[in-house]
Amino acid sequence: MAELKRLVLNQESEEDQVISLSLRPERLADFVGQPDLIKGLQVAITASQRRGEPLEHTLFSGPPGLGKTSLAHIIANEMNSRITITSGPAIDRAGDFIGILTNLEKGDVLFIDEIHRLSKTVEEFLYPAMENFKIDFIVDKGPYAKTINFNLKPFTLIGATTRSGLLTTPLRDRFGIFYHLEFYGENDLSRIVLTSAGKLNVEIDNDACLAMARRARGTPRIANRLLRRCRDYAQVNSNKNHIDLKVVNEAMRALRIDAQGLDELDRRLLMTMKTQYNGGPVGIEALAATLNEETDTIEDVIEPYLLKAGFLRRTTRGRELTSMAVEHLKS
Ligand code: ADP
Repeated sequence: MAELKRLVLNQESEEDQVISLSLRPERLADFVGQPDLIKGLQVAITASQRRGEPLEHTLFSGPPGLGKTSLAHIIANEMNSRITITSGPAIDRAGDFIGILTNLEKGDVLFIDEIHRLSKTVEEFLYPAMENFKIDFIVDKGPYAKTINFNLKPFTLIGATTRSGLLTTPLRDRFGIFYHLEFYGENDLSRIVLTSAGKLNVEIDNDACLAMARRARGTPRIANRLLRRCRDYAQVNSNKNHIDLKVVNEAMRALRIDAQGLDELDRRLLMTMKTQYNGGPVGIEALAATLNEETDTIEDVIEPYLLKAGFLRRTTRGRELTSMAVEHLKS
């Protein structure tokens, strides 16, 4: 059950995280899909290298597992620079953040995941740091108060967010480069599965790659996770290091992932809308309360793919099931 929950919520166990690191693409050329983004980044990186300057501050938005963190690492590799990794909720005190900023060397990459969750105070320190590589802070109070200015070394801030809409305008405007990552198509996901299988030293048939790609909810992280579960399945149940279509179908049945790649939580959400809300429209708060899930989980993790795949529709009055979802629930 714990595994199922993790799978559904797109979270990874510690072992999975370690394997995930080994599957991460290292260079722009290894990054599958998102052709416009890759072309644009390639130009921006080459241009800044020629000028001998750090890359402009870059923002990536899009659902979890589409490659935002991987891109931050790739940029650092391509620019031959160091990377410091943190996240919006992890920086809770301005003092910690000043420590991070003053430790950056020229050209370093600072990656802030979930940047929409930075506190207001920390965000205000970030503005001059991004704009002029400076920070100002006030020490003491009242008549003794004085402002201390710090010069920082020029660095590149890379922000990642699942919700660019929650970013404040002043913060968003300070990024010179902004890309939204799209869900991946079957062919790209199939290529990712094949490459990852090579890295994990497991043999795999082409139709097995495609079957996994079809069930990966457009998400490389899920494709890699399905691959690892199928590998476990092949090694334990068939005692072989070879994944064929039969293994994929059996593993998917065991994980309760259906032919469209929908998992338990997706189906529970669609079914709840059908039975309790007559297909909608239903507001997110009501839906979250009925499902006993966080609204953030529904909005960031579950809903984007259901909208993209055409199972849900968003209207001004809330979410509605599409006829495709109603058909799917009958099967
Ligand atoms: P995010 O930061 O958007 O949540 P990650 O960068 O952590 O996503 O990606 C999750 C995993 O998916 C990575 O470990 C990597 O193995 C794989 N991955 C993501 N995008 C790609 C891609 N375009 N090509 C190959 N592998 C990818």
